[in-house]
Amino acid sequence: MTKQSSGYMGYEIGPIRPPSEARSLLLRVSRNCPWNNCRFCGLYKDKPFSIRKPQDVMADIDQLKKMITALEGISTYSQEDKQKIISELYEQDANAYHMALTWKQSNYASVFLQDADSLAIKPTHLIQILEYLKSQFPEIQRITAYSSSRTIKRISGDDLNKIGSAGLNRIHIGMESGCNEVLDNVAKGATYEDHVASGRKIKAAGIELSEYYMPGLGGKEKLQESAIDTALAMNAINPDFIRIRTLAVGKKLLIAKDYQDGTRTRTTDEDVVKELLIFLEKLEGIDSTIVSDHFLNLIPEFEGKLPEDKEKMANHLKWFLELDETQKMIYQLGRRTGRIHSQKDFYNQALQKQITQLIDEHRINPDNIHQVINQLMRGV
Ligand code: SF4
Repeated sequence: MTKQSSGYMGYEIGPIRPPSEARSLLLRVSRNCPWNNCRFCGLYKDKPFSIRKPQDVMADIDQLKKMITALEGISTYSQEDKQKIISELYEQDANAYHMALTWKQSNYASVFLQDADSLAIKPTHLIQILEYLKSQFPEIQRITAYSSSRTIKRISGDDLNKIGSAGLNRIHIGMESGCNEVLDNVAKGATYEDHVASGRKIKAAGIELSEYYMPGLGGKEKLQESAIDTALAMNAINPDFIRIRTLAVGKKLLIAKDYQDGTRTRTTDEDVVKELLIFLEKLEGIDSTIVSDHFLNLIPEFEGKLPEDKEKMANHLKWFLELDETQKMIYQLGRRTGRIHSQKDFYNQALQKQITQLIDEHRINPDNIHQVINQLMRGV
């Protein structure tokens, strides 16, 4: 049992996790984002960064262990006693109870360390937390975290090796773009060189690496450069995963100003597909897996293992580009309103009819579709 700090408030859960960690235990080691300057991101705006005391994170682990032990033994009790135990557990710590229930369903397989940059805490503290977590739950198979190239740059290779040995299996890094002009414009806090050096450092430590690419970030002006430089950065790193997150621009984001004052021109869905095609064509000499696991991406089929699936992935992008104007509108609206989940769905006549009605009702046409799509994507 760990002695928590006097300010311990119970099990904490942060606001986000990657989609691939939907069934993971969420363990919060720090709060919010230590950088918090990216102009395309509003997730942690006005929320100060802080690091949780290691003993409080370990107290969370204890809380969880207590809940799980109780839940594992609950089947032997009568229905009435079960209800009583559940109510008591819930009252003791509702977050820990919910987390224990969710995690139990996935057999305690994976853990995601929150929030935006878990490697920003002291390496010795991270190692202490990882070792304690694994000692309490030896069945864990995967522990992952978000970090940034900026933070990884400051960690020694030796410390990163120790963090990997203590159990951190995968790090998610938001590269967003490999183009220095784009990175500078969006205040990413890292250059092409930082991304490549940090990505290589993670891989050298034997930790799996997931790099995120944000097509659309350079606007129409930097579309080509962003696609090419990002591909060159990926080629230099060879990450295990390349994850696609298409840019969405909420009105309040700082980047929105660039579109209002005309410094940047917003990319259309079609531009983004073209950007991805250029990106894909430039990827070479790597065996990364491309993953499109976010609903903001227009083409969910843009997924596969390099190099063998390259042609298949290119064909999925070309499929959209070859549709006529009306078909493109149907597909875009279908995707953005959650009616179409795959290119196969597009051929469903009933769905097509439904979306065509929507197009007629709202007087959507090739001249205003881009505006409509932007509005639909703003809500995310
Ligand atoms: S580092 Fe990540 S969480 Fe922090 S501001 Fe940038 S995109 Fe947002």
